Amino acid sequence: MSSQHIQINDALVGYIRSMTHAEPDYMVRLREETLRDPLARMQITPEQGALLSVLTQLGRFKKTIEVGVFTGYSSLAVARALPENGKIIACDINEQWTSIARRYWKEAGLDHKIDLHLAPATNTLDAMLANGEAGTYDFAFIDADKPNYGNYYDRIFELLKPSGLIAVDNVLWYGRVIDPAVNDEETVALRAFNEKLSKDDRIWITMLAIGDGLTLAVKK
Ligand code: SAH
Ligand code: CA
Repeated sequence: MSSQHIQINDALVGYIRSMTHAEPDYMVRLREETLRDPLARMQITPEQGALLSVLTQLGRFKKTIEVGVFTGYSSLAVARALPENGKIIACDINEQWTSIARRYWKEAGLDHKIDLHLAPATNTLDAMLANGEAGTYDFAFIDADKPNYGNYYDRIFELLKPSGLIAVDNVLWYGRVIDPAVNDEETVALRAFNEKLSKDDRIWITMLAIGDGLTLAVKK
């Protein structure tokens, strides 16, 4: 089988970046500041950020959820494309990383659109369900601890409206999902998660080879 996929390299990434609108200055600076953290690779790429902004505009999202904030880059990508009355329920457990996020959200003038819940995300999502919010959300982005992806998905599926969109990061896990020699907890969990969605006929699904792999699933 011939490869029908272009091989992406740094020069092509540079071209893509120069042919799409530049990131706002606050997002460039946040990326630079996050690079000092040894876990900076957890951050989505600028191309994924641009995709989240485009999807947010296209879907005219208002009520959204983010599971896994880190230093706030992906939430900025969504928040800047939301209308003034749009909201992100942002879930994370890490005070230190999210304090960086809060600083940039404020600087960007987008903090009024983001409600940070510092608690295990399953607790926050369960509380939203208990609060009668099922079927009311337009969009959710899952990008936190990999072993819990399935738990987040089950809850978010209930919270979404019909036609609501779920985006999930790291579904290719640096290629480890197809390496049978790798069987650590995160890789095994991601394989099981991808299988679970592949069998779920309540969604439309596509898996994009962007960044570390991004699944998009629309609730039927
Ligand atoms: N979306 C972010 C990256 C997220 S990194 C970006 O693009 O910049 C993963 C995040 O998940 C980390 O900030 C971590 O603190 C958070 N996390 C880990 N376990 C969690 C849990 N049980 N509940 C909520 N957040 C969790
Ligand atoms: Ca990620």
